[in-house]
Amino acid sequence: MFQQIKLTEPKQKDDGFLVYELDEETCKLLLNEGDKALQFTFPENNSGFAVALLTDKGTVITGASYKSDTHNTTMHSEAVALARAAQHGETRIVAMTGPNCHNCKQLVWESSIRSKIDTVIIIEEEGKIKQVPISELMPYPWPDKELTH
Ligand SMILES: [Zn+2]
Repeated sequence: MFQQIKLTEPKQKDDGFLVYELDEETCKLLLNEGDKALQFTFPENNSGFAVALLTDKGTVITGASYKSDTHNTTMHSEAVALARAAQHGETRIVAMTGPNCHNCKQLVWESSIRSKIDTVIIIEEEGKIKQVPISELMPYPWPDKELTH
């Protein structure tokens, strides 16, 4: 059902978290899959946001935004992708395309704490692909390293 990618071994950081370094081909594939998922934005196709994530099983899962007229109950593409992944037993997120809003960074951060994987955010900027661990995007995170539930 979902596209699969072969992953290389992660590195273990000093804090015990794992971090994966992706090759450029995988980054481009994820960015491309995220772009392709724009066709699934709701209620209007190609009007909103979409992302792709990669799990530690090598599974690629996309998410597209689901808009509400209230705006604040709109489901962001990152939340859709994370929920979709969880429904398929995939809760260990290696990478996700970005940039992401602060609410979504929080979701990715909490997922990262649970899995002990420092999820890499893949950003294309001026034609160059960057891989930024979520921990670097959350300099003063809450919660710090432990979840309360
Ligand atoms: Zn968001």
